[in-house]
Amino acid sequence: MQIPQQVAYIIDKLNTRGFEAYAVGGCVRDTLLGREPGDWDITTSAKPEQVKALFRRTVDTGIQHGTVTVLIDRTGYEVTTYRIDGIYEDGRHPRQVEFTSDLLEDLRRRDFTINAMAYSHDKGIVDAFDGMGDLKRKVIRCVGNPMERFSEDALRILRAIRFSAQLDFSIEKETWEAIGQIAPNIAKVSRERIQVELTKLLLSDHPERMMDVFETGISRYIFGESYQLLRGKPDVPENISRLLKEAALSERRNLQEAAKLPGKKYIRWAAFLSRAGADGAVRILKDLKLDNETIRRVKTLVSWAGRELPEEEAFVRRGMSQMEPEVWDGVLALNGYSPAIREMTRRIRERGDCLDLKHLAVSGQDLIAAGVTPGKEMGEILGRLLEHVLERPEDNRKEVLLGLGKPDVPVEFRNSIPSAAVRVQEDLNCRQKLEQ
Ligand code: ATP
Ligand code: MG
Repeated sequence: MQIPQQVAYIIDKLNTRGFEAYAVGGCVRDTLLGREPGDWDITTSAKPEQVKALFRRTVDTGIQHGTVTVLIDRTGYEVTTYRIDGIYEDGRHPRQVEFTSDLLEDLRRRDFTINAMAYSHDKGIVDAFDGMGDLKRKVIRCVGNPMERFSEDALRILRAIRFSAQLDFSIEKETWEAIGQIAPNIAKVSRERIQVELTKLLLSDHPERMMDVFETGISRYIFGESYQLLRGKPDVPENISRLLKEAALSERRNLQEAAKLPGKKYIRWAAFLSRAGADGAVRILKDLKLDNETIRRVKTLVSWAGRELPEEEAFVRRGMSQMEPEVWDGVLALNGYSPAIREMTRRIRERGDCLDLKHLAVSGQDLIAAGVTPGKEMGEILGRLLEHVLERPEDNRKEVLLGLGKPDVPVEFRNSIPSAAVRVQEDLNCRQKLEQ
C-alpha cells in the first residue's frame, strides 16, 4: 500500500522510540479503494505528551481526546493515542476517553468496518472486523452491534448514508434497520454536523441517496415542519403512502440527474430543495446553519427553478443582471436551458454588455450634473436606464442615455421602452395565475 512519505516518517519515528503507530481509518479505506484520501490520520500507542516531545512542530488540536497535530511541510497530520471511548451520555459524545495500549480496542470504537482498518509498512493491514471483505462486497456495516453503535453516537446514522453515497455502497441490513430505529436520536446532533454530512452527501456522485434520509425516517428529525415541503402535501389519507412512494421515486430520479450538475454546494442544495420553494429553502438552510452566501445563492436558484426563458438576448441579459455570473451558470445547468441560451450567455459576456448599475454609462454624478436631485427619483431613473440598456445594450452611451433619462420627459421615456422587465413580469404574473 502506498502512503505519503511524511506519514511513513511519522510512523517510523514513533516506532524507533518503541511506540506502535499506524495510518488508520478513512485514509486506509480510500487508499484501498484507489481514492485520494482527504487527510491522513495516525493512531499510536504513544501518549500525547510523548508525541509532542518527538516532533518539532505540533498543535494541541484535541489533546483531551488524545489528538496532536504534527506539522510537516505545512501539512498537518493528526496523531491520536489509542483510546477507548467511555460511556456516551448525550447520544453524541463520550463522557470521557481512556487511553489504551491495545490497537484492537482503538479499532473497535470506530464506526464502520471499512473505517476500522490500520496500516503500517512494517505490520501491513490490520483488519479485525473484515473491513476488506466489506470493501469488496461494497457494504457499510457497523463495527459490532448497530443499535448500540448508533445509540452511542447518532451522527453515525448520517455518516452511514453519506459514505454509501460517496462510495456507492449499500448499507448492510442490520445496520439499515438500526438506522430507522435510532433515527429520533438525530435530534441530539448539532445542526452544523448534520449539515456537513448532508452537504457531503449531496456533493457525492450519488446525491439521490438523500432519499435514504427519507426512507429511513430520519428526515422528519432533520427538516422538522419543513419536511412536508419536500414531500408535497398529500391530503387524502389512503393516498399518502402511494403518493409518498411516487414522490420518492420522482425525487430519486431528479436527484440522480443532480449528479450531472457541477459539484458546487449551492447548486446541489438548490437541486434538492427546488420543491420547497424559495422561502422554504431559505428556512431549511438557515435552520441547518448554512453560510449566508450559500443561502442567498440557493434562494435565487430555487426561485428560478422551472422558469421558462424565451430565447432572446434581452431576457437572458435580464436574468444575468439579477445574480452573480456563477449563479447564472447554476441556473443554466439546473433549468437545463437550451444551447441557444447558453450561446447567448457566452456572447453577452464576450461583448461585455452592461448588466448592472456599475457598468451603466451614466452614473448618479452624471444625473446630478444634468439637474436631477439626488434621492429616490434618481434611483428610479438609474433603474429605468438599466432596464433600457438590458433591452438595447448598444444604447449604453452617456449621450444616448442622458437624452432618454431627462427628468422632464418621464412619460415619453417610460413609453419609449418596450421593457424586457415588463414582459418578464407579465409572464410571471400569468404563470402565477395559472398555478393558483
Ligand atoms: P472523510 O474524511 O472522507 O469524511 P473519514 O472516514 O476519514 O472520512 P473522519 O471524520 O475524518 O472520517 O474520521 C476519521 C476516522 O475516525 C474514521 O475513519 C473512523 O474510523 C473514525 N470516526 C470518525 N467519526 C466517527 C464517529 N462518529 N464514530 C466512530 N468513529 C468515527
Ligand atoms: Mg478523514
